[in-house]
Amino acid sequence: MNAKQVLIVGGGTAGWMTALIMARSWIKLGFEISLLESPDVGIIGVGEGSTPALKQFFDKLDIKEEEWMPECNATYKCGISFDNWSTKPGCESYFHPFASTMDMHTLKFFIHNARMRVSGVNVYAHPNRFFLSAQIAEKNLSPIAHYNFPFDVLYGYHFDAVLLGQFLKKKAIAMGIEYRVGHLQDVILNESGDIESIKLDDGDSIGADFFVDCTGFRSLLSQQALKTPFKSFSNNLFNNAAVAMPTAIGDLIPSQTVSTALKHGWAWKIPLTNRVGNGYVYSSDFCSADDAEFELRERLGLLDADVPVCHLKMKIGQVEKHWNHNCLAVGLSQGFIEPLEATALFLVQQTAAIFVEMFEAGKFTAEYRDKFNKRIYDHFEGVRDYIVTHYKTSSRSDTEYWRANTKDQADVSETMKILYSAWMNGLDIQAEVKRLRIENYYTAPSWICIFAGMGIFPSEKRLRAASPGESIFSFDNLDDFLKRCSLNFDDHKNYLEQNFK
Ligand SMILES: Cc1cc2nc3c(=O)[nH]c(=O)nc-3n(C[C@H](O)[C@H](O)[C@H](O)COP(=O)(O)OP(=O)(O)OC[C@H]3O[C@@H](n4cnc5c(N)ncnc54)[C@H](O)[C@@H]3O)c2cc1C
Repeated sequence: MNAKQVLIVGGGTAGWMTALIMARSWIKLGFEISLLESPDVGIIGVGEGSTPALKQFFDKLDIKEEEWMPECNATYKCGISFDNWSTKPGCESYFHPFASTMDMHTLKFFIHNARMRVSGVNVYAHPNRFFLSAQIAEKNLSPIAHYNFPFDVLYGYHFDAVLLGQFLKKKAIAMGIEYRVGHLQDVILNESGDIESIKLDDGDSIGADFFVDCTGFRSLLSQQALKTPFKSFSNNLFNNAAVAMPTAIGDLIPSQTVSTALKHGWAWKIPLTNRVGNGYVYSSDFCSADDAEFELRERLGLLDADVPVCHLKMKIGQVEKHWNHNCLAVGLSQGFIEPLEATALFLVQQTAAIFVEMFEAGKFTAEYRDKFNKRIYDHFEGVRDYIVTHYKTSSRSDTEYWRANTKDQADVSETMKILYSAWMNGLDIQAEVKRLRIENYYTAPSWICIFAGMGIFPSEKRLRAASPGESIFSFDNLDDFLKRCSLNFDDHKNYLEQNFK
């Protein structure tokens, strides 16, 4: 393909992130990259949590935290606490941490104890006590260590999605992206089925060699004009709606997202510097929008409060070809998996970055288009499997929603079945994750965290006490070690105030 003119349609987070990733590599090669945004259709305006990959995005663009974080009311995120997903004693809450280089000292103990517990030995195997990130989050600390602490702690961010969009737009325009405002009305295809141009509602048309569809759930170019098939995940991910509302931030700023299972879905709690973002992701098959709003308001103590409330619909699944003809779909237009692990922007980043990487390697051929599509498709499936596991491992049965979520074991992928069976049989999960080639989506520690954190152990085995050879470490030492490590981190709120003001 000889693409020198690229038109990105859509100016949400996906559009601007893609613009920046392309601009970084392609402006210097003489590409003309434009971004068109409708004056009439707003951005989705939610999506306030990230994975650690967002740091790499900013690092590659040489944008410092001091610059973007205060502008976006951003905070640090060490991981996610999953509350009330399991009813098993001791497993009512567990933390899914982002990795730390310190884990190389403690992970082996976690893996050892988890395997012992699976084989019927009565040892402690809940994840929280084994990870430095869990300690940092529990104490509301920042994940940035003092200069003399030699271990890195990976972290993601929480941010205001609207402010992040504005920040990225400013940066992209400064890097040479041409910004256009106009409402796409029609997409003109040529005889080979490629997009030739788009028509705006004021009668103008814009042509380009290559198009990027960032029009959100509408997917105007990919799904609508090119009729790219969409694979729904609704068979095992039931949630298709959300309601969001803010609350005030308290005296402390937590460095974790909290995801709490509710009657018909789950609620997020995301702390920013100026407010807390809250939302309830639910299934409209089991609960009305009014009931979801009531449940969330009740939970937040906002039953009669006048707060801005935002109701959203979600389409869960992915397009079968992320790159179809001369169009790449990025963001909600390519697909969406409910935001339980805040992976959407990571998938945006991956899609745009791998696409650019392939172009630079001269792999812009039909053969590589298929390889690219498979890679992104598999990534979506891999993330989907991990999200589905939260539901399939839940022991809740208090509502029809939870009973439906947990009953049908047939609706899981082969990969999930294999992994689950490996876990229950005490096999080496690290080796299995590698063998199944899924470590790029979720690593073995993440899988062990979810199984052990949800209390998934063979129930038929009577627990026996550990023999001296099976107790390979002292918890007193481990607790003390991680406690002392955590002294190298400052209070999260203080850190943000002192470094970003
Ligand atoms: C409830 C919920 C919670 C989420 N939480 C997270 C999270 O914690 N972490 C995370 O990573 N992601 C999360 N996401 C996903 C995240 O919000 C999106 O991936 C991200 O905002 C990117 O959206 P987008 O740019 O694809 O679409 P949008 O923000 O919808 O942008 C669409 C753009 O297309 C333009 N457009 C539409 N029609 C036209 C037209 N006719 N002509 C021209 N332009 C047009 C609009 O003007 C707009 O600029 C969440 C999503 C939902 C629904």
